[in-house]
Amino acid sequence: MEKIRLAGKNRSEIAEIVAELGMPRFTTLQILKWIYVKRVNHIDEMTDLSKRNRLFLGEKYEVGYFPPVDEMRSLDGTVKYLFGKSARDSVESVYIPDRDRATLCVSSQVGCKMNCLFCMTGKQGFSRNLTANEILNQIVSIPESDTLTNVVFMGMGEPLDNVEELMKVLEILTSDWGFAWSPKRITISTIGHKSGMIRFLEGSECHLAVSLHSPYPVERLSLMPVEKAWPEYEIIELLRNYDFSKQRRLSFEYIMFNGLNDSIEHAEELSKILRGLHCRVNLIRFHAIPGVDLKSSDEDAMIRFRDCLNRRGVICTIRSSRGEDIFAACGMLSTVRKGGTRT
Ligand code: SF4
Repeated sequence: MEKIRLAGKNRSEIAEIVAELGMPRFTTLQILKWIYVKRVNHIDEMTDLSKRNRLFLGEKYEVGYFPPVDEMRSLDGTVKYLFGKSARDSVESVYIPDRDRATLCVSSQVGCKMNCLFCMTGKQGFSRNLTANEILNQIVSIPESDTLTNVVFMGMGEPLDNVEELMKVLEILTSDWGFAWSPKRITISTIGHKSGMIRFLEGSECHLAVSLHSPYPVERLSLMPVEKAWPEYEIIELLRNYDFSKQRRLSFEYIMFNGLNDSIEHAEELSKILRGLHCRVNLIRFHAIPGVDLKSSDEDAMIRFRDCLNRRGVICTIRSSRGEDIFAACGMLSTVRKGGTRT
């Protein structure tokens, strides 16, 4: 029988297991320390638990960290890791070192339901949600885990479409009994999943990034079917109810498509719909993917767009692209892609 994984469980879940096995209550904190602070992978290594309790625990449970099964290295230092048992049931995580920062881009679902026109994961379709164990494992099990300064949920899937497992991971990452990270080290990226966003904004202090890609609803709908269910105007109005002027940061992601959404009129309209919000805009170059007849804006158009927003009081930056040569850049993750070489 497959054992139940302890990694990915929060404090109350571990306390339930401790009670179920008749262990002393203080064992909860001991187990949490072994899993999340010392990050051991075997119950036998939990040496301050009695031998009897370790045996009891090990009958039904295991720690449950598992290494990536494959990796690809980019010339720019980015590394893409593959986790999972088969091509159809696996996810990718991208490690991005950058001067004094080291960021991991984490996946939350196998595939995605949202079907954004410009995204490889969307083309793959949706298979399933990842468990908290599988999400957390990406952070713990890459070789560079100890060097990570930031985690961004911008990998495969829409994290707020898997919000309960996500919230559990955020709790583990930011609690004293877990990793004890500042929420400022974590950013959740969403296309504007309204119900998930409310749950996230009320239940955590982590940063939020919302993908807009056009200030015009009809145009946005042609890129992102989600506009129908959760229009951008509704999302922006919702965000006005929260305070982003202190520690928590709000950013809007904007992929630049040549001749489609990169005009000065677009920049002006964008500055209008964001007026009064404490936020910034990140411009992202589009990375070509098979079967999609869109091109990225050139550097000049991006600079013009950025400067227009900055002049209108919206902080705007052009995000540098990483890992394009290994299909690890924004929008390029897919585990059912044909071709490409892994090391
Ligand atoms: Fe899903 Fe994000 Fe890709 Fe859209 S961009 S299809 S939400 S993974």
